[in-house]
Amino acid sequence: MASIFSRIIAGEIPSHKVAENDEFYAFLDINPVAKGHTLVVPKQEVDYIFDLDDDVLGRMMTFAKRVAAAQQAAIPCKRIGLTVIGLEVPHAHIHLIPITQEPDMYFGKEKLTPSQEELAETAKKIREKYK
Ligand code: 5GP
Repeated sequence: MASIFSRIIAGEIPSHKVAENDEFYAFLDINPVAKGHTLVVPKQEVDYIFDLDDDVLGRMMTFAKRVAAAQQAAIPCKRIGLTVIGLEVPHAHIHLIPITQEPDMYFGKEKLTPSQEELAETAKKIREKYK
């Protein structure tokens, strides 16, 4: 069965897309730890990120770098934090999180609950900065 992220990439489940190319898809996390929290996912369905081929992983980081630049331009923050957890969804992904202080990246706190309209507006802002 396809992972939830494969179903998002296929458009079967709606998402707030930020960027996409042939190999990767970036969209807003539905329960962000900070405004603009984005997930970068390979279209290839692999559970564990370090099982990706070296060259795919390299291109994924290059794609994430461009997404991070767009986030940095769109969301007031000091920089973009990067983390990999992967305990909830068995489809490799990178979390890119706009941060100003360390607790902004803390996953143990209560998550934000933005409305669909707020998510759409944030995604649009980031998308417009993506080059
Ligand atoms: P992890 O697997 O890295 O522990 O966490 C998975 C992340 O994916 C969580 O931050 C969670 O909020 C996000 N997530 C899970 N299901 C969905 C979904 O259907 N849509 C979106 N946009 N994000 C999701």
